[in-house]
Formats: sequence, structure tokens, C-alpha cells
Amino acid sequence: MEFVTADAATTGATTAPAGRILIIDDEANIRATMTRCLKRSAYAVSVAADGPAGLEQLAAGDIDLVLLDINMPGMSGFDVLAEIRRSHAPSELPVLMVSASGQSCDILRAIQSDANDYVVKPVEARALLWRIETHLARCRAELALRESEQRLTLALRGSNEGLWDWDRDSGAIYFSPRWKALLGYGETEGPASFDAWLELVHPDDRVMFVGAIDAHVSGDTPQLDIEYRIRHRSGEYRWARTRGAYASIGRNAARIVGAQTDVTDRKLVDAATGLPNRVRFKDCLDEALRAKQPFAVALINIDRFRVINEGLGSEAGDVLLGCFAERFKGALAPAHMLARLGGDEFALLAPDVSSDAEMSLLIAECRRRFEAPVTVGEHALHISFRVGAVIADAEHRVPGDLLHRADMALRSAKLQIEDRVAFGERPARGVALARLKLENDLHCALAQDEFVAVFQPIVALATGRTVGFEALARWHKPGQGMIAPGCFVPVAEETALIGAIDDRILALACGEAARWPCPAFITVNVSGYRFGDPALITGIARRLAGSGLDPRRLKLEITESTIMTDASATARTVKAIAERGIGVAIDDFGTGYSSLAYLHRFDATTLKIDRSFVQAMAESDQGVEIVRTIIMLARTLKMSVVAEGIETRAQCDVLRALSCDYGQGYYFAKPLSADDARRRLSLEIDMVKEAV
Ligand code: C2E
Ligand code: MG
Ligand code: MG
Repeated sequence: MEFVTADAATTGATTAPAGRILIIDDEANIRATMTRCLKRSAYAVSVAADGPAGLEQLAAGDIDLVLLDINMPGMSGFDVLAEIRRSHAPSELPVLMVSASGQSCDILRAIQSDANDYVVKPVEARALLWRIETHLARCRAELALRESEQRLTLALRGSNEGLWDWDRDSGAIYFSPRWKALLGYGETEGPASFDAWLELVHPDDRVMFVGAIDAHVSGDTPQLDIEYRIRHRSGEYRWARTRGAYASIGRNAARIVGAQTDVTDRKLVDAATGLPNRVRFKDCLDEALRAKQPFAVALINIDRFRVINEGLGSEAGDVLLGCFAERFKGALAPAHMLARLGGDEFALLAPDVSSDAEMSLLIAECRRRFEAPVTVGEHALHISFRVGAVIADAEHRVPGDLLHRADMALRSAKLQIEDRVAFGERPARGVALARLKLENDLHCALAQDEFVAVFQPIVALATGRTVGFEALARWHKPGQGMIAPGCFVPVAEETALIGAIDDRILALACGEAARWPCPAFITVNVSGYRFGDPALITGIARRLAGSGLDPRRLKLEITESTIMTDASATARTVKAIAERGIGVAIDDFGTGYSSLAYLHRFDATTLKIDRSFVQAMAESDQGVEIVRTIIMLARTLKMSVVAEGIETRAQCDVLRALSCDYGQGYYFAKPLSADDARRRLSLEIDMVKEAV
């Protein structure tokens, strides 16, 4: 291919050409005439005598515009155009069709086929140059616009700002993808009008928001610059800063263009309640710890907040949070700090409180403020709350540790019927040291692989046959024999160790079950503390894959009290587990004062009646009635039932009469070693064979 500019041809200089033109035409004299004409105007020209040759040159790159003959033998100009348009939009590569005179249908077809323009043979030099110039100029302008838009987008993204552009007269409003993403929306979602934007603005900020825009539009302020609260898609309010400028275009058209950014983190103030936020609270906690004086920290959760939020809507939920904060603060001294950590979780820092008794008094005063119902819309809500508190003393050095203890106390407060304050235990020095040693030993035990699983049979009451096993953890501590989970699970649960122990037992259990001579199921206990951990599901999937066990043969047991700690989160996790075909059993049912109303929201497959109910059957008729009711409840929820802790024939008979599906307990077998469990299954298979 030869590119020669007129300048280059005459002077030998290498100035840039005015543009690079490709002529595709089968007639040599037309190619020559056009080439001459274009070169005189400083264009670089390349030529091709047919479609395929032209496409090849195009593919080599560096062409700004194509002059394309319509009538060519073989591949026609339209075929070539279609090929070009596969990879080049009209705005990127203009194509001018060259047609024989009088072929108006060709011209129409050319325009319909995405040609940019046409010229008619014999080609008139000035008309040709004018058209070429026009199209190249338009192309360059579009390219520059695209580049500047791209630059702006990149700049805005870099500055974390979202763009908005509102035409006040037509009402049309544009929100950039980044603007939407800051509020949790995808590109095609989110508000589509100014009113919809205003809907998202916190009710308390709406007057200020609209007022600031009006003030700027009427010229009272040189720039729009406001910070306000806006509802994120998750329902949470976020702090946003919006800056903008108003432009009056023509007589009517008026636009405001601006950028918005999320400033929640630097506000240090919770958007929904106006209280200090988590970041601010942590700072103050650090400060209190540095002061080396005793003080108190409490975590507070509103009872049934999720039910209220889901039942009455998140706007009502926000109103409730605001009222709660206000009333609670009413009982506090100026030195106290109430903060909102997120959701319905509040935290209190009380620098002047140094004993459990003082803290109990303070909280009792706060509770008194909630004796009258809180009005939310037309609802009068009786509000109660749980408190987990810790008195910080010289032993406490790290805020994380303090909050962890307060959280543990809060969890135990949630399990109590009355709403009193639970205190994070402050172990006596000796006890603390023993605990520390146990924690350390557990770490070593994991590293040395000292955890083993034992297997307790689960029996079908109607047939007496073993249908599955529950894997139970044991710590095989050298020189000390088998240690029961009651001695280490509680400590492991206070640290991250429980995750590793559960995972170890899960791996052992899946591996064992995969080797059994029949497809009996295996149930494995999962600590409730792990139900908020997203890694739980992937960990389980990994163990299943590693063992090759069919997921339908695995059941996970979660204790009923876990469910009640954070019902929504647990329901989500249970759903994700159930979707993988894995069963879920609610363990120790009846001990967690669970709300029956919640139970149907779980995709649990099995209910395990706690041992205490099985024992209580012998004590009174009422005991039997309770078990009968639980079994009926399970039937209604389409769950199977396992009775735990069956120790006598009499208990077994009653449960069978009550149509309980399965039983587990010393009456059938104590937890067995892996070998004994496998042997039990083989023996039963042999017995059936003999009977046949
Ligand atoms: P659980 O899941 O309710 O397990 C049943 C417990 O009752 C087992 O105690 C079992 O040995 C005992 N048991 C079974 N039948 C009878 C009976 O007829 N009479 C009496 N008195 N007891 C019976 P174990 O093995 O000491 O486990 C206690 C608890 O520790 C378990 O209660 C479970 O909540 C927890 N646990 C056990 N293994 C693990 C584990 O791998 N991970 C976690 N997170 N927790 C575990
Ligand atoms: Mg269990
Ligand atoms: Mg149990």
C-alpha cells in the first residue's frame, strides 16, 4: 500500500496528512482521478480494486474514511459496507458510497445500510472534498466528545463522586452509574425523577435540601453545597455531600449539574438517629481505656426490632430508632455517651460507672423511660431492650476484647426471659489464667490433631433400625483420655477456635459416612456463633467435595437458642444450606424459648426434642402432652422429629405411641467409635439378610 500526501510528494516533508482515505473502486481511471484530487488537498490515499482487497487494507488500520463504489464485480459495495459495519460504527469510520448517476434506489439503500453519505459519478472534485471534510470533522468532534466524557467519568470515579444532571423545565434527570452505585443501585435501577430523589432524602432534611436548591437557583448562593441524609437501597441512611451549579441556557431551559459523594464515614454521626456512630464510639472507647480509670460499656439491642421493621416498614423502623435514642438519652448524664453501632445495636459508654450495681441502676432508669408506649405512625409500641454490660478495669487493654465480652453478655441477656442486664463475667485472676491455658491447649490440640469424632446412632422408632448417626466431638488429650465437649466448646466459642473444631469434626464425619455400607445420614453440630460467617457455607462445600459424600446424607444441627439470637441472619444461612441439599436440624428444641412464629421461616428439615422433655414425660401427664404438641407442631411444619436422650424402654414406647419418627439415647447406644459405628451398620444389614 502506498500513502503519499501532496506535500510529501512535492516537498519531501513529512507533515501529518489531513486524513487517510481508502478508495475501493474497480475502475482504474476513477481511482486515479480521485487520488489526484485528494492528494492535492493533503490527504493520504490508498486504493483497492475490489472489496476483499479493500477490507484487507482496512484491517491493517489507519484509515479515517472510505470511498466505496457500489457497483463492483464479485463483492458489491453493499456487501463491503455490511462487512465494515461489523467492526466500525458510522461515527468511528465514515463510508461515502460512490454511485453511478441516476441510481436513486442505490442511494436510498446506501443510507439505509449505514453509509454516512454518497457521491455521484462523475465525481465533482469540490463536492467530494467538501463532503469528506465535513464527515472527518464530525468524526473528530465525536471522538473528542467521547474522550472528554471518558475523562470526566474517570475523574469522577477517581474522586468517588456520582454525577447528576437535572433539567428543571422538562423534569428530565440523569444519574450516573456511580451516583446510583453509591446508593446501592445498579445502572438501570434507582430513582428516575427529582421527586423520586427527594423521596430518598431523610424526612428531616427535605426542607433544607429543597431550600438550598431554590436558594442557589434564585442566585442567593454562588454554588449548591449541602450535606444531607439519603436512604441507601439497604434501607440505611447514609450521609451524602452534593455540590452543583445552575446554568440558565436560553430563555427557558435551566439545568443544575452536580456531583454527589458519600461522606458517612467522616461524619461520625449516625444518619438515622443523630447519635455518634461506630467510628466515633470506638475513638471514645480508646480514650477511656487510655485514661486507666474504671468505666462501663454496654451493648443494647431492641427486642423484636426486626419484626417491627419488617412488619411496619423500614421508615417506621427509622422512626422507632430515633424515638428510642431520644428516650434512652433522657435518662443519661452528660458524661455518658450513647452511640448507634448499626441496625438496632446501640452502645453506651459510662465513664462514671464502676460496678455492676451502678450499671443496673442506670439501666433501670433507662427502662423506666419506656414504660409508656412509643408512637410510630398509628401504632403504639411497647418497647423493651436487652443489655450486655462490662465493667472495664485495669485488666482491660483492648477495645475489641471489651466489646467481645459485652457482646457475649448481650447474647446471654437475649436468652433470659426477663429483660435484665447481663454482665460479661470478669474472671478472677486464677480462673482467667486457667482459661488462658485452656485456650492455649486448644490451639495446640488443633495443631496436634487431637480432636476426634464419636458417633451416636439415631434409630427409626417404628422399626428399631439405625438410620443415621450424630457426630459428637471429643478431645483426645494425651494422658487425660476423652474430654467431653462441655469442657471445651464454651471456651472455643468465645474465640475463633470453634470454627476450626467444627470443621475438623465435619471432615471426619463426612469421611466416615462416605465409607459406610449403607446410605445412613450423618448429623454434625455447628456452633451458632458461626452462623453469621459467610465462610461457613464454602467450608462445608469443601468438606463435602473432599469426602465425596452426597449432600443429602448430611444434616447440620443448630441449637434453638442460636436461631433466636439473630433470626433473620440464621434464616438466610439455613436457606443457603438447604439450597445445597443439606438438611438442617434444630437441636435441643424446647430449651431456647423460641418463638414458634419464627420457626416456619426456617428451611429446617428436622426438630430434635431436648432430652429434658423426654425425661419429663415420666413425671406427669403434662410432660407427655408437651411432647405430643411438639410432634404435632413438627408435623404441621413438615419436619421430622428426633427425640433426644431416650434412656428407658418406657420412654421409647411412649414416643413410638406418639408417632415420633426417630430416637437417640443411651437406651439404644452411647456414642460409638468410628469402627463400632460402621460395625453396627454392617451387623444390621446382615440381620436383615438373614431374616429374608
Ligand atoms: P447435643 O448436640 O444435644 O448432643 C447430645 C448430647 O447428649 C451428647 O453429649 C450425647 O452424648 C448426650 N446424650 C445422648 N444420649 C443421651 C442419653 O440418653 N442420656 C444423656 N444423659 N445424655 C445423652 P455430648 O457429646 O457431651 O455433647 C454435648 C453437646 O456439645 C452437644 O449437645 C452439642 O451441643 C455440643 N457438641 C458436641 N459436638 C460438637 C461439635 O462438634 N461442635 C459443636 N459446635 N458442638 C458440639
Ligand atoms: Mg446435637
Ligand atoms: Mg441436642
